[in-house]
Amino acid sequence: MQNGLFFICNCCSCCCGVLRSINELGIPAGDVVNSYYYAVIDPEECASCGVCAEERCQVGAIEEGEDSNVVVAEKCIGCGLCVSTCPQDAIKLVRKEEKDIATPPQDEAEWFEERGIQRGVDFSKYK
Ligand code: SF4
Ligand code: SF4
Repeated sequence: MQNGLFFICNCCSCCCGVLRSINELGIPAGDVVNSYYYAVIDPEECASCGVCAEERCQVGAIEEGEDSNVVVAEKCIGCGLCVSTCPQDAIKLVRKEEKDIATPPQDEAEWFEERGIQRGVDFSKYK
C-alpha cells in the first residue's frame, strides 16, 4: 500500500508465511511478491564465495553459474539482502521496466477491493 503502512517486511523465510509457501511449493517468487527491483550480479566482480546464495537469499533466487553466481530474475523479490553482504560489492539492484511494475494500491480499502474483484466479489454494495 502507498499509505497507512502498518508493518515492515524483513524477508525471513522461516517466519514469513508468504516466503515459506513460495519455497515449499516451488512458486517463482516474482509471481507473488510485487517489487520495483531485482538483483544483478556482475560476473567480473563475483568471487563465487557463495555468501549470497547460501546465507542471504531467502527465496533461492541465486544459483551457481559457469563463471560466477547468477540471479534468476523471475525468482528475485528485490529485497536487497544479498547486496549488503557481498564482500566483492558485485551485486546491485536494478529497477524493472515500467511495464513490469504493478503500482501498489493507495490504502487498505483499495487493496481489499482489488483482491475481492480478482475473486469475483461485487464491491458496489459496500460503497
Ligand atoms: S556474495 Fe558476492 S562474491 Fe560472493 S558469490 Fe555472491 S555475488 Fe559472488
Ligand atoms: S534481492 Fe538478492 S536476496 Fe533478495 S530475492 Fe533477490 S537475489 Fe535474493
